[in-house]
Amino acid sequence: MIVSKPYIISKIRQCTPTVTSFTFKAEDGTSIDFVPGMFAMVEYRNESTGEKISRAFSIANAPPTSTLEFLISLIHGKFTSKLDTAKVNDKYYISAPYGQFKFDVHNEGKLLFLAGGTGIAPFMSMIRQIESIKAETDCKILYSVKFPDEIIEKDELERFKQDLGVETIVTVTRPKEGDNWTGETGHADAEMIQKHVPDFKDRVSYICGPPAFVKALKVALVGLGVDEKKIKAEMWGE
Ligand SMILES: Cc1cc2nc3c(=O)[nH]c(=O)nc-3n(C[C@H](O)[C@H](O)[C@H](O)COP(=O)(O)OP(=O)(O)OC[C@H]3O[C@@H](n4cnc5c(N)ncnc54)[C@H](O)[C@@H]3O)c2cc1C
Repeated sequence: MIVSKPYIISKIRQCTPTVTSFTFKAEDGTSIDFVPGMFAMVEYRNESTGEKISRAFSIANAPPTSTLEFLISLIHGKFTSKLDTAKVNDKYYISAPYGQFKFDVHNEGKLLFLAGGTGIAPFMSMIRQIESIKAETDCKILYSVKFPDEIIEKDELERFKQDLGVETIVTVTRPKEGDNWTGETGHADAEMIQKHVPDFKDRVSYICGPPAFVKALKVALVGLGVDEKKIKAEMWGE
């Protein structure tokens, strides 16, 4: 059985205007065994009022580790509004790992990661693991964000290209005048996949993001003739 344990926030780092990275360390110093792609249940507890709220978050750092990092969109909802005022050393309760969106670094072959917004989180875990164990990889990322300043871990994604050859193609869905954005715009679709990843049929595709994004890209890949068995998906948000 997976048990919930107390964790302390050890680091808070603002990644974009709306997304913040929270790193938690187990109070008892133990580490959690997980596979990239899996998620944790993070619980807020107010001991004086008895209020408890828990939500799922994809683990963004790579195993083995004694910390858990999450990339969280602060949408001011029931749980995330607690994080608006969270501080280092605050206590939360975490149980993990959960989920079937699992990545096997030794057995995946060529990869295509399709990410929407914070859907990049599990892919950060996957590529950080590829990097840390120096695994051979052939991986492309198609990453959809609303605005150019919402690219999470932009510098690290650029470094993945330099160091690992993992290229990220970003598409901005709500470009504005003055953005100076010269890359792709509009929703990721079949045409964009064919243009940037012509060998997409040879790859295992992982899709993660809001439901509309995941559903549209699954339909696009199947429509392009990709075997459904080569598509894995995880979704949240709206
Ligand atoms: C397996 C899994 C993994 C997840 N991983 C992450 C992650 O890595 N990072 C992350 O930020 N979230 C992640 N989530 C979403 C997270 O669990 C919460 O749903 C989210 O943080 C909102 O919780 P809340 O209590 O603040 O909002 P609520 O009070 O529950 O919701 C408020 C309103 O906001 C809407 N809403 C919920 N999520 C979003 C969103 N992302 N954008 C816009 N509107 C939204 C709801 O539909 C609702 O109308 C994941 C969810 C699942 C199931």
